[in-house]
Amino acid sequence: MIWYPYEQMKGMKAPYKIVDAEGVYLYTEDQKLIDSVSSWWSVIHGYKHPELNRAIETQLEKFAHVMLGGLTHEPVQKLSDKLQSFLPGDLDHCFYSDSGSVAVEVALKMALQYFMNRGETGRTMVLALEHAYHGDTFKTMEVGDDEDYHFVLKAYGESKYVVHIPTEISALEKAFETYHDKMNCFIVEPLLQGAGGMRMYDVSFLKRARELCDRCGVLLIFDEVATGFGRTGNRFVADLVLPDILVLGKALTGGYIGHAVTVANQKVFEGFYDGDPAHALMHGPTFMGNALACSVALKSIELFEAQDYLSKIRKIEEITRREMEGFTDPRVKEVRIMGACVCLEVYDPSTLKGYQQFAYRRGVFSRPFLNCLYAMVPYVIEEEELVRVLQTMREWFGGR
Ligand SMILES: *Cc1c(COP(=O)(O)O)cnc(C)c1O
Repeated sequence: MIWYPYEQMKGMKAPYKIVDAEGVYLYTEDQKLIDSVSSWWSVIHGYKHPELNRAIETQLEKFAHVMLGGLTHEPVQKLSDKLQSFLPGDLDHCFYSDSGSVAVEVALKMALQYFMNRGETGRTMVLALEHAYHGDTFKTMEVGDDEDYHFVLKAYGESKYVVHIPTEISALEKAFETYHDKMNCFIVEPLLQGAGGMRMYDVSFLKRARELCDRCGVLLIFDEVATGFGRTGNRFVADLVLPDILVLGKALTGGYIGHAVTVANQKVFEGFYDGDPAHALMHGPTFMGNALACSVALKSIELFEAQDYLSKIRKIEEITRREMEGFTDPRVKEVRIMGACVCLEVYDPSTLKGYQQFAYRRGVFSRPFLNCLYAMVPYVIEEEELVRVLQTMREWFGGR
């Protein structure tokens, strides 16, 4: 039997069985649903996209996978060249993994080893944000700050290697004052904190973080597994403030195959590049650089560029603001909108109980979590479909 994610299996509501998917739609045996979640925020071009399908089919005729240990191939070379030119600044060195969590692990490992390679053995700490989510593996849980994982705290106690701060400049400055020579990196989900509750904050915080990291020699890591490829209305938040290490996942392959990448700048790469074998990055996921994943990721980026997705995303934001204008309800604490993300935060999570079934009957798939009723739609959504998603959210509260 299947052990499903994030669920108490005892008494779990049966999941909807999907038999087909195309464009923004998921099909069950008896219903057609707009996927307002984009399969955990990854399916930006919609399902069964002819060009993405073709990219995989074409590669499949050659080979599905070969390892990157001692071997290389065209799809991974082409994708790396593409990322090097597509990404801002000198984020040029691509290390591939099979999931976002692992790619964040790699980023944290890079940051620590960067200083160990230089003999700065005192820099063992990581600065991170309150309400952060960076994945489900152990180190990513440790730098994260999500109530779901508090059993780890119960088992191990507070980590002495991670400090969490709120997204306030004063807290940031204070943390740097206290820990500037003990930290190896500051890791953030820039502008939009996803799984920790769809929290949004200002770019001025990131600009100040960049200054302080520069001044104290601390590496800045952007976990853009969720925000990358347009979600915030920017291609990458890294276009606004340049990190030393950038992590991409989720939408990297257009949601087709699990794959992620940790991209290091020149300075970080050079921290490993010397005559000492012990200074190598000792990491290598079995399926890193999978040829099918790289082929579809390359095509996904080409579509993103050729079809001007940023203006599609601006349109999504505009429609969302228009439809949510004037919406208030005593149960709703705040309505937050950024790019192609909208979140209604409620005071009491029980307010959202039954919403999924309510939305299902109206032809929308939704999966509220914590206090958040949210939508992160595929960018190819039509206006009338988006309006249906948003109206369904309003109707739940008895709006029109
Ligand atoms: C989803 C997510 C991850 C983890 O990615 P997986 O592919 O699920 O391991 C890490 N960081 C952020 C910001 C995410 O949203």
